[in-house]
Amino acid sequence: MLCPACGAPSTRVIDSRPAEGGLAIRRRRECEDCGRRFTTYERLEPQLMVRKRNGRLEPFSPSKLSAGISAALADRPVSGSAIERLVEEVEASFRGSGSNVTSEEIGRAVLDRLRNLDEVAYLRFASVYKEFQGAADFEKEVAALDSAEQPG
Ligand SMILES: [Zn+2]
Repeated sequence: MLCPACGAPSTRVIDSRPAEGGLAIRRRRECEDCGRRFTTYERLEPQLMVRKRNGRLEPFSPSKLSAGISAALADRPVSGSAIERLVEEVEASFRGSGSNVTSEEIGRAVLDRLRNLDEVAYLRFASVYKEFQGAADFEKEVAALDSAEQPG
């Protein structure tokens, strides 16, 4: 924790006690450089909740999401660690923006990243998450990919 007054990295905890009915820990800190005192709170990170299409709320499940992405990436030359990284990026992108997201928002975030990773997987995933109405939508999406690929 950097000192908010002078930016020095060396601060020490001079007092630590439960706060918010035991749901947080309040720490008084003192900068060893300039002597400034400040307070920090340690809290449990709120569980990211996903609103499904049927309206139900479910805890965000990284393993479920990576299973869905793995299915879209079946037979594609993309490593498991690339999928894990993608899932982590998606989860991180929703942290701090409140604790509720919709499954559509998650789908879009995955698509944004899949597009750069693997086009076939992108289209497979898009056909599920964008609920294409028919071949026309699918072709439009393919055309968009093609035009994005033009050099220059
Ligand atoms: Zn300081």
